[in-house]
Amino acid sequence: VSEDLKTELANELWASTPGLSLSKVKEQMFYKVGLADAVDLFRTRRVFIKDGFAYVPFKEIDAIVLNNYRTKLSKALALTARSLPSIQSDERLQPLLNHLSHSYVGPDYSVQKNTGKISLEQIDALSVKSFPLCMRQLHKALRDSHHLRHGGRMQYGLFLKGIGLTLEQALEFWKKEFIRGKVDADKFDKGYAYSIRHNYGKEGKRTDYTPYSCMKIIMSNPPSQGDYHGCPFRHSDPELLKQKLQSYKIPPSGITQILELVKGMHYQLACQKYFELTHEVDDIGFSLNHPNQYFTESQRLLSGGREPKKELSNSGNSQQKNNSQESMNLNSTPTSSNTTADTELEGLEAYFTED
Ligand code: SF4
Repeated sequence: VSEDLKTELANELWASTPGLSLSKVKEQMFYKVGLADAVDLFRTRRVFIKDGFAYVPFKEIDAIVLNNYRTKLSKALALTARSLPSIQSDERLQPLLNHLSHSYVGPDYSVQKNTGKISLEQIDALSVKSFPLCMRQLHKALRDSHHLRHGGRMQYGLFLKGIGLTLEQALEFWKKEFIRGKVDADKFDKGYAYSIRHNYGKEGKRTDYTPYSCMKIIMSNPPSQGDYHGCPFRHSDPELLKQKLQSYKIPPSGITQILELVKGMHYQLACQKYFELTHEVDDIGFSLNHPNQYFTESQRLLSGGREPKKELSNSGNSQQKNNSQESMNLNSTPTSSNTTADTELEGLEAYFTED
C-alpha cells in the first residue's frame, strides 16, 4: 500500500487492526490482498476490509504466507499420493524414492574458500565457541585420549577440512596429538597419514571427500563402545547427555527443552536449541542440516552479523567463563593463551562474515 493511501485510510486501519496505535499504523507497512487470502484475519476481525480487499499489516503477513503454503502443500501431497503407485512400480525409481527422505541437498562444504585461514592454535577455542556438540565431543575425546577410532577420525577430519584446514595442517594436527598417546611418529606416517591424505583426495580413488551432513551422521554408522563419533543428541544416553549439557552450563530449563526434543526424535531441533542457548539468541535464524553450517553460522553471529539477546543472563556469563576454563583444560600443550586465541578468533570471525 502506498504511503498516500495509507495516510488516507489511517483512521480505518487503526480502528480495524488490533494492537496498533495510530503512530504505529504510520510506521507499519500494509499489504492489499484479495479477501479470499485473508479469511482467517477477517473471521477474527483483525483486518480492515474495503472493496473486496484486506489491508494486512506487516506483522500479520506470515498468516497469509502460511495459508498459501498450506494450500499448495496439500494439493501437492494429494497429487503425489495419486501418482505414487505407478512410480513405485518402476524399479529404477524405487531406490531413489527410498532414500529421498534421507538425502541431503544443501551445500556440501567441499569448496573451502577459507582454506588455510585457521591456525591449529585456534582449534581449542573454536571447539568451545563454534563447534556443534558432535564435533566438540570428538575434539575433547581426541585431546583427552590422544586417539580417535576410524569413525571419529573420518567424521572429525572431514569437518576440520570443511572449516578450512589444509592437508599439511591436518597431518600436523593429527600427528601431534597421536604421538602424545600410544602411536609413535613412524607408525603414524605409515598408517594414519595415508587415510588423512585419502580424505583430501590424494590417495586411492582420489575422491575429494565431503564433510558429513547431520542426516548422514544421525542415520548411519552408529558409535559402539569406545567410539566418539555420531550425533550426541541421537546416540548418547539421555542421562549422559544431560550431564554433558550441565557441565557446559546450559540452564536447567534449556536442558529440559533439549531433552524433550530428543525424546520426540527431533535431533537437529535439539541441536538448534543448543546453538540458541550457547550463543544467547532467541531464534537460530536458519534450519540446521550440517555441522559445518553450524560452524559458519556461529562465526557469522559471533562476528556481529546478527544481534544477540539484549540482556545477558548470569548463566550466560558463567557459560563464557566456563568455556574459557575448558578451553585451557583441553589444550594441555601451552601453545597460546586464551587472550591470544581470542584475538586470533576475532580476525577469523570477520572472515566468515564475507559471503
Ligand atoms: Fe552434529 Fe548435526 Fe547432531 Fe548437531 S544435529 S550434533 S550438527 S550431527
